[in-house]
Amino acid sequence: MEVEFLLTGHLATYANCYGILTEKAAIIVDPGKYTPELKKFFTENSDKTRLILITHAHYDHIGGALQLRKETGVKIAIGKNEEFALSDCAFNLSGRFTPEIPAFNADYTIEDEEEFTVGDVTIKAFETPGHTVGGMCYLINDCLFSGDMLFYETVGRVDLPGGNIGDMKESLDRMMWLFEDDVRVYSGHGEPTTIGHERKCNPYLR
Ligand SMILES: [Zn+2]
Repeated sequence: MEVEFLLTGHLATYANCYGILTEKAAIIVDPGKYTPELKKFFTENSDKTRLILITHAHYDHIGGALQLRKETGVKIAIGKNEEFALSDCAFNLSGRFTPEIPAFNADYTIEDEEEFTVGDVTIKAFETPGHTVGGMCYLINDCLFSGDMLFYETVGRVDLPGGNIGDMKESLDRMMWLFEDDVRVYSGHGEPTTIGHERKCNPYLR
């Protein structure tokens, strides 16, 4: 499985957008801004099963999803309790830092602990509220796409609408309990890390 860092344009938040490529699957995680590169990723892999997968509905993670779906026909999946924020600017924060994102719906909603397949990959979803109401982390093989929950030596903020410090603590505890040290973590911002490194070095996990 290849994990690529795709461009998302010049968003001020430097949100990560990932392209996941296997023999039979092409998945884009968190298209924060539409770019022709994202379209190309899907059109070049049109023989594979494709999906737009969203960790949480903040503008810098969803801003390109609607246009990408329009241009390629690829469907959008997001957590069941996070979907509402795709069409609620108070929660997706668009209009505050960027132009308002037109309201849209997902094609699939995912529940906590749901397991589903895209082509030849199995995705395990874990609802991890705290940064947002219904944000999800996705485990694919030994790679965890953690959205804005867990970063290299830090964690996501809890002071935005829908954020909650109690939920954040519970979700982080659960993540530390669920995932082994060698799980690689691809965060919503910044460089990749591992669960083991965070267990040892992240000051918010002590
Ligand atoms: Zn966020």
